[in-house]
Amino acid sequence: MNITLDAYAKINLYLDIVGKRENGYHDIRGIMHKIALCDRVSVSVRPNSQNEISLTCTQAAIPCDERNIAYKAARMYLSSYTNATYKVSIHIEKHIPAAGGLAGGSTDGAAVLRAMHKLLGGVEYDTLVCDSARLGADLPFCMADGAMITEGIGDVLTPCPSLAPCYILICNTGEGVSTPLAYSKLDDIYDNFKHTSFDCERFSRLKDGLASRDLELATSGMYNIFEEAVLSECPLASKAKAIMLGSGAVGAMMSGSGSTIFGIYEDASAANSTLSHLSSFGYAVHLSKNS
Ligand code: ATP
Repeated sequence: MNITLDAYAKINLYLDIVGKRENGYHDIRGIMHKIALCDRVSVSVRPNSQNEISLTCTQAAIPCDERNIAYKAARMYLSSYTNATYKVSIHIEKHIPAAGGLAGGSTDGAAVLRAMHKLLGGVEYDTLVCDSARLGADLPFCMADGAMITEGIGDVLTPCPSLAPCYILICNTGEGVSTPLAYSKLDDIYDNFKHTSFDCERFSRLKDGLASRDLELATSGMYNIFEEAVLSECPLASKAKAIMLGSGAVGAMMSGSGSTIFGIYEDASAANSTLSHLSSFGYAVHLSKNS
């Protein structure tokens, strides 16, 4: 039995930190949005004398052992929801830039859970979505469709309208970001988030823009607190953002903890010429249509 699924990347249209828990986890508030850029994840399952997992990936830098979230997802599924034993073989055709703030690992893990659910069953899908948070805060979002308001540590999801039809340009300059370091920088700047203020007016602008299918209004409400900690360290990403804003994007921002930059365009030709411009610097660039 085997199945191949698309595993979609996400962008953060809004990302703020609204508190820090005693266990060190941060409470966030924001909006995540799926984009068409995806990995292709193939999963095959066959009965075996013992549980066995093997994983291959088209990108050499991605670990193919128990460090891979897709591997962890298969292990969790086998130990939690099956009585029989299986050999699970996973292949990841990687297109999403790794460690770029696009949830590339989480979406692969979610795809393995979705695939095993289709092939083996043994658990209600809603239960699986809740349990997926054990593998990472972004997993529940990756198990769902469309755009979501995200709260808690990212695991509390409320559906919201998607962006109006547009073109979403993604640019990854290859500047690596350490997510823990970015959080600790923000902890210093915001005194461990003991007192936080959330910009309700701005967030409402984004939500109203999404609800009314008004791209300009929506993008005027976008925000990412991580830009403050990361962009000064990533000059190429900053430049990519400036290029997008200067070339017809209605909005451009860093996704997640970075350093991938996304630009939102109404006009296909402006998006395409910016794609050519950014590609000429050797950056990984991808254009997707959001309809
Ligand atoms: P997020 O937006 O959820 O913070 P990210 O896009 O910044 O995630 P990932 O692409 O998920 O980051 O990669 C983070 C790290 O996870 C990488 O350094 C990589 O070694 C590891 N990793 C584990 N599994 C995978 C996978 N399937 N694909 C990519 N990276 C993976």
